[in-house]
Amino acid sequence: CGIIGIVGGQPVADRLVDGLRRMEYRGYDSSGICTLHDGRLVRRRAEGKLNNLVANLSKDPAPGDIGIAHTRWATHGAPTATNAHPHATDRVALVHNGIIENYKELRAELTQAGRNLESDTDTEVVLQHISWLVEQGQSPQEAVANVLPRLRGAFSLAIAFRDHPDMLIGARLGSPLVVGYGEGETYIGSDALALAPLTQQISYLEEGDWVVITREGATIHDSENNEVEREIRFSGASA
Ligand code: GLU
Repeated sequence: CGIIGIVGGQPVADRLVDGLRRMEYRGYDSSGICTLHDGRLVRRRAEGKLNNLVANLSKDPAPGDIGIAHTRWATHGAPTATNAHPHATDRVALVHNGIIENYKELRAELTQAGRNLESDTDTEVVLQHISWLVEQGQSPQEAVANVLPRLRGAFSLAIAFRDHPDMLIGARLGSPLVVGYGEGETYIGSDALALAPLTQQISYLEEGDWVVITREGATIHDSENNEVEREIRFSGASA
């Protein structure tokens, strides 16, 4: 139900959890985060309250200066830790808000190709399709641009790539996503409120947009993959 991603200049786990807290009011049944550290995706998830995730993280920290996080309001698949986001392969991790309406058809293709899915969610098909293309040698940008047009429904997404510790990709259609600009850091989030302690400089993505964020800023594409500019505004959301 809430998404946040940080490409940072310092550790992100606490700040990601803080962003999730600011979106608690939307409601959720489970939560999770994934950071990138030492060439590995580090994932922690928990059923129930955010404090369960915080307890996991205090036993088993998620170091790293880049990461994504999620609070889930289950639509497909029970609210268990296995169905909690981020979903991940060893190369790609992904969080999603919304519903993928054609997930059955996308899932059938994956299972026919012999890929194992570990959750009952609609979301995991998006992860698996992107990871499959990356494993075949496509760049993150190519893989995302190839998979997005196949998705029906409503989504906002944030995606991390093991071999690209300097960037995250976000996308939206029918579900909100904003880009936040910091000092040597860039953010994506479901709303300006989630990012308010980090920055007040915000761009609202338009329907069908997808964005690559790095420490230097953001490159935004429309649904036709043209590079586009989206106005940067002062959010005025209180930190
Ligand atoms: N449809 C997805 C799921 O059930 C995402 C739900 C959400 O927006 O949190 O896992």
